[in-house]
Amino acid sequence: MITIHLKRGKEESLRRFHPWVFSGAIQHISDHPSEGELARVLAADGTFIAIGHWQVGSIAVRVLTFADESIDGRFWQQRLAVALDVRRAMGVAGRSDNNTFRLVHGEGDNLPGLVVDVYGATAVMQAHSVGMHEARHEVAAALKAVMPELRNIYYKSETTLPFKADLGQENEFLLGGDADDVAVENGLRFHIDWLRGQKTGFFVDQRDNRSLLEHYASGRRVLNMFCYTGGFSVYALRGGAQVVHSVDSSSKAIDLVRANVELNFPGDGRHEAFAEDAFRFLQQMEPSAYDLIVLDPPAFAKHKDALRNAIKGYTRLNARAFEKIAAGGILFTFSCSQAVSKDQFRMAVFTAAAQSGRRVRILAQLHQPADHPINIYHPEGEYLKGLVLYVD
Ligand code: SAH
Repeated sequence: MITIHLKRGKEESLRRFHPWVFSGAIQHISDHPSEGELARVLAADGTFIAIGHWQVGSIAVRVLTFADESIDGRFWQQRLAVALDVRRAMGVAGRSDNNTFRLVHGEGDNLPGLVVDVYGATAVMQAHSVGMHEARHEVAAALKAVMPELRNIYYKSETTLPFKADLGQENEFLLGGDADDVAVENGLRFHIDWLRGQKTGFFVDQRDNRSLLEHYASGRRVLNMFCYTGGFSVYALRGGAQVVHSVDSSSKAIDLVRANVELNFPGDGRHEAFAEDAFRFLQQMEPSAYDLIVLDPPAFAKHKDALRNAIKGYTRLNARAFEKIAAGGILFTFSCSQAVSKDQFRMAVFTAAAQSGRRVRILAQLHQPADHPINIYHPEGEYLKGLVLYVD
């Protein structure tokens, strides 16, 4: 373990449990650290502050604990057991009609750099830091101890590790290997392609918002834009939609949405899927063809410097929907860009509404679900926001 001394006064945010040490706060590092090593962080006067994973970049340490303790099997088990308790308390784990939930959401579960999504007897684990990559076998062992019912743990970090550190073994089964491929969310079933799919294979974070959409869907003509595996589409069908059209630019996603509709509503003629660019589809579609539209695009801003363009992108996209949605229509619109704040997103949608000249009211303000918790000392953990709008 390396030792880091902070500059005078730079321990203040850490004393308030903010879990990052920025490189500019560091006075001295004991050794030549290699990325991913454990670091003991001390104030300028030598008092103990925290232990975390050292990494290269402006965030130099991601804090695992503010207690002077060993980072061992017992530590990982304790953190994971608390995470599971919290999921049971919120009613997403331990249910017969729902086996799909996020067990670990990085800083929100005091495990910076780690994401674990559970799909029945399979957990998909992602490291966002080299330290978590190095710890993957210990974490997997602790996961199996806390959830003995797990048969597969798939580690999937090829796209999430900070840069091509060429660590090897970034995608592999750490337990089992014959993942059963059906996830159940609120009684609906989904094929999950964890080997090749985006993220851990499914967007677990839209569960509550999909449920809400189900209650708006009855009798409506629904357009699910950026549908990916078709979560919103399947809920809309169960909610009694008249027709549901799913659009995604990826033809693999379109295969998945078709398979998922077939899994839940075999032979249902209300659904059609189109592999097309969202902007082109919105441009070409007939006005008033839909009276419920979902816009759930990928993050337009991955970094702060892309912010202005991202906000313009949200305005452009929402303006197209406002121009075309039928009178009395409902728009579910989202942003999952962490760099775009709730207010900035709302302003972008406001601008789009004003450009279209439509009368719009906000019916609901949406956010990430409880199994994607936000550490109160780490507001950066808030990323998903959405609006349900009524368009006169
Ligand atoms: N709503 C989905 C998640 C959306 S993820 C769910 O509930 O699971 C974003 C999706 O947008 C991805 O599947 C990606 O393929 C798609 N996408 C990205 N750019 C696009 C574009 N220009 N037009 C259409 N789809 C696009």
